[in-house]
Amino acid sequence: MNDRKGQIVFLAGAGRTGGTLIANLLSESAGLFSAGELLRIWDPVTLVDRQCGCGTRLLDCPVWSEIFHQAFGDIRKINFDRMRQQRENVGRTRSLPALLLGRQSRGTQALSGDAKEYFDVMHSLYRAISTVTKCQVIVDSSRIPSHGVLLRQFDDYKVTAIHLLRDARAVAFSFRRTESPQMPGVRLPQPPQALEKSAITWSVQNLAAEWLLWRVEGGYLRLRYEDFIARPSDTIQMIHDRFLMWPLTSKAFVNEHEVRLGPHHTISGNVNRHKTGNITLRADDEWKTKMSRASRARVMLMAWPLMLHYGYLSG
Ligand SMILES: [Zn+2]
Repeated sequence: MNDRKGQIVFLAGAGRTGGTLIANLLSESAGLFSAGELLRIWDPVTLVDRQCGCGTRLLDCPVWSEIFHQAFGDIRKINFDRMRQQRENVGRTRSLPALLLGRQSRGTQALSGDAKEYFDVMHSLYRAISTVTKCQVIVDSSRIPSHGVLLRQFDDYKVTAIHLLRDARAVAFSFRRTESPQMPGVRLPQPPQALEKSAITWSVQNLAAEWLLWRVEGGYLRLRYEDFIARPSDTIQMIHDRFLMWPLTSKAFVNEHEVRLGPHHTISGNVNRHKTGNITLRADDEWKTKMSRASRARVMLMAWPLMLHYGYLSG
């Protein structure tokens, strides 16, 4: 390990897999900063309208204000439309064939030319996060695997990929929800998603995470939500022991399934990133009783090869 390098813990895979909670639990330890879904930073809804995880409007959050100033001087000088366009071109799922046909281990070829500006802006952002927070480890819960390929081009960071898995039926059921199960009465910002779309996205993102990230410098961990939520404290301890350059100092766990969470300055992610205080960690398995047989079949029709591969069709 090159100790002069920082570390980015990149949470990859489909959404609704417990990533926001895992990121914040990891970042209860000193030296780790849970930044949220940094991929989405140029979305107007993120920067202009949305709150930081600490509850302040993002542009008014003291931590992010200082990060933006350190990275860009005046963030309003950045052309958000152009950044989003470049992100679409080089950093989203649609670019995966180009990345894979370029160089599978590092996506340099796909990040050349016009994408260089996007790379430089994002690199400045991550360096400013490290400088301002004084944290050596940034936890980025962006999920989209090709974003992890971009991160691998940063020569002053090593990337550790945590590939988050969850039963495709549970994910599709979750994307049909209009309210947060952890925060009753809180409407989710995204509209309900068709089961088939969730199943296809689940398959593509999981496949891409394996292809693009399994050989990252800082190590690759495949972690099932179902295993994490069964032993959350042990899982966080294991991640620290095996993958992190910083020891576990968190006092968040009261016991295996009870945590006391403080605020985290996450820029985007699941609405439960705003939840602080004492929290009981229990499996969200409502789909097992509320999801119809027909709906499960529609998901399985699209996602069965990888569900079989990950052990979700056995037993
Ligand atoms: Zn904040």
